[in-house]
Amino acid sequence: MRLCSYVQGEWVESAGAGTPLFHAIDGSPVAEISSEGIDFGAMVRWGRETGGPALRRMTFHQRALMLKALALHLLQHKEEFYRLSRATGATRDDSWIDIEGGIGTLFAYSGKGRREMPNDHVYIDGAPETLSRGGGFTGQHVYLPLEGVAVHINAYNFPCWGMLEKLGPTLLAGMPAIVKPASQTAYLAERMVRRIVEAGILPAGALQLICGGVGDLLDHLDCQDAVTFTGSATTGLGLKQHPVIVANAVRFTMEADSLNSSILGPDAGPGTPEFDLYVEEVVREMTTKCGQKCTAIRRALVPRELLPAVGDALGKTLDRVVVGDPDLEGVTMGALASRAQVQEVRERVEQLRRCSELVHGSPDRFEVRGGDPQRGAFLPPLLLRCDEPLRHREVHEVEAFGPVCTLLPYDDPAQAVELARRGRGSLVGSVFTFDDDFAREMVLGIGPWHGRLLVIDRECGAESTGHGSPLPSLIHGGPGRAGGGQEMGGIRGVLHYMQCVALQGSPGRIGRISGRWIPGPDPVPDPVHPFRKGLDELEIGQGIVTRSRAIGLEEIERFAELSGDRFYAHMDAQAAAANPFFEGRVAHGYFIVSAAAGLFVDPAPGPVLANYGLENLRFHTPLYPGDSIRVAFTCKQKTPRENEDYGEVRWDCRVFNQRDELVASYDVLTLVARSSGDRLAAERA
Ligand code: NAP
Repeated sequence: MRLCSYVQGEWVESAGAGTPLFHAIDGSPVAEISSEGIDFGAMVRWGRETGGPALRRMTFHQRALMLKALALHLLQHKEEFYRLSRATGATRDDSWIDIEGGIGTLFAYSGKGRREMPNDHVYIDGAPETLSRGGGFTGQHVYLPLEGVAVHINAYNFPCWGMLEKLGPTLLAGMPAIVKPASQTAYLAERMVRRIVEAGILPAGALQLICGGVGDLLDHLDCQDAVTFTGSATTGLGLKQHPVIVANAVRFTMEADSLNSSILGPDAGPGTPEFDLYVEEVVREMTTKCGQKCTAIRRALVPRELLPAVGDALGKTLDRVVVGDPDLEGVTMGALASRAQVQEVRERVEQLRRCSELVHGSPDRFEVRGGDPQRGAFLPPLLLRCDEPLRHREVHEVEAFGPVCTLLPYDDPAQAVELARRGRGSLVGSVFTFDDDFAREMVLGIGPWHGRLLVIDRECGAESTGHGSPLPSLIHGGPGRAGGGQEMGGIRGVLHYMQCVALQGSPGRIGRISGRWIPGPDPVPDPVHPFRKGLDELEIGQGIVTRSRAIGLEEIERFAELSGDRFYAHMDAQAAAANPFFEGRVAHGYFIVSAAAGLFVDPAPGPVLANYGLENLRFHTPLYPGDSIRVAFTCKQKTPRENEDYGEVRWDCRVFNQRDELVASYDVLTLVARSSGDRLAAERA
């Protein structure tokens, strides 16, 4: 099979002879790969001129629904991907992480996009900043999609997940992508891209694929483009210093290798649940994907006195690992992706052995069930131990990207911190303890050196997603050696593909541009109550200022009776006056909120369908018996739902007293029919 690239909407076979790729289990040829003859400049232009505009015409919600459709489509083809994934040496469980884990990130980004982003083209970042004394000049940070292409250079170990976890946020942001999978396992990424293209879900130009080298691709990039690199630190550093990347300030995100550590607490001796969880996790991290995970535990930090017990327990568990053809019954660990990879791991293990002892497994003598032991890329789990880890740099610097881990003893918590930090920046670390003080000391000590930290104990062990699992809602990436980049982390990951702009102008204008009303003068008076308007008829900034209503002591007492809330500040004048914030009895905050609703609600059936919550509720000034309230109620933001005849309206609600002091402020969240006629028509029906 000659792998093709997907260039300017066409599948293109390379001009020259390809580099052969081999099956990890039996060594048979799987594919040939080459990108010779591709016009990389034209690819960049096609992405910028065709894919970008088409994506940017869509709203965040439309793009989010596109991701969901894509995920559903890929799920239908998953068995085909699983079959091909076997050639990478993966077991079914390994492939699940890659294939369904990858598809899962698309679902996750689809959900987040619809829940946390507006159905609009502008993403608003934080609250507005008032910039003038009179409140007539304001600032608002907003994000807009970059107008270039995102070049994704991916590592070989997760050909599907590595591609999809970047594609999700990129497409949601509204940016087209050029994906370059690592050659060794590109056949699986290529197959997935074929299925994506066939589905016709993405607009033309949104996705292109390079199978083979990137040629002069980077020479064509400028400041509207972005590169996200995943792979070894050496390759990444070279690319980061590419003259065009530097000169044009091309955004460059690097996810590199890392010597992740996992720390067993001194309290977690044999017999404790944390001890068992630790042993299980270290073995899982050594064997999942044959240890070819950037997040795998490479350094197991253990109190010196527990070292023999941990070594024994790990040895016994590793004895149960069966290496071989993942299709065969009982096989628990497959092969590395290629024999070149095996050779590289062997060399790294030799380097590690200069300061460590091999305490379990042998790279030269091991059993393989099925497959072709001579031509397949097999290696058993190898556990090393370095007794003086403070004296040797290698254990903190040499990454053996395979089923390899080194046990490192520590003498006290400060030393555990010091050892973990010697990785000089890691993607992830974990601490296994049931001791709050130890856990906190570790988190404070090693937190700044990590992108993600797990604290595992008996309370969360059973449900933990594991040391080595990046999650779409949490950031993936780490400082220093790990590359200094960040991916995913929910909407944070989307913003990498967008430009943050500090918008300045009048509150009304900025509100209308950004799609979220900014508090300024009272709402524009309108004879029609906003509750009588459908979503499509309402305009941001429209609203009402209500009449005023006095709040008497008797009403406060009736509210206390009705709600059962008899807190002394509402009921006992003397006790209330002794409180530093009050001069006497005050109205319940929840009474104020309820009375405010009584003022702004227009009760007859209409387009407003339901109130589904309040946000950002604050009480600013106490309300005393005899005071009165009035409400300024303004349409703040509209979020129509795609494929539904209703959407969300966020209202800004401000309650003032008779002295125009702000008593309470909050957002009211409602569901509103698209048009005022919808509801009436429904009622007539
Ligand atoms: P790699 O050799 O550095 O390659 C990574 C990617 O860079 C591949 O797509 C490779 O393509 C490409 N590449 C190599 N030279 C290039 C050049 N001059 N210009 C443009 N692209 C170039 O890494 P790998 O062997 O695939 O992956 C293993 C490493 O990645 C491990 O060190 C692991 O820790 C790290 N990793 C990190 C993460 C993370 O999220 N931090 C995730 C997975 C893996 P070719 O394959 O065609 O050479």
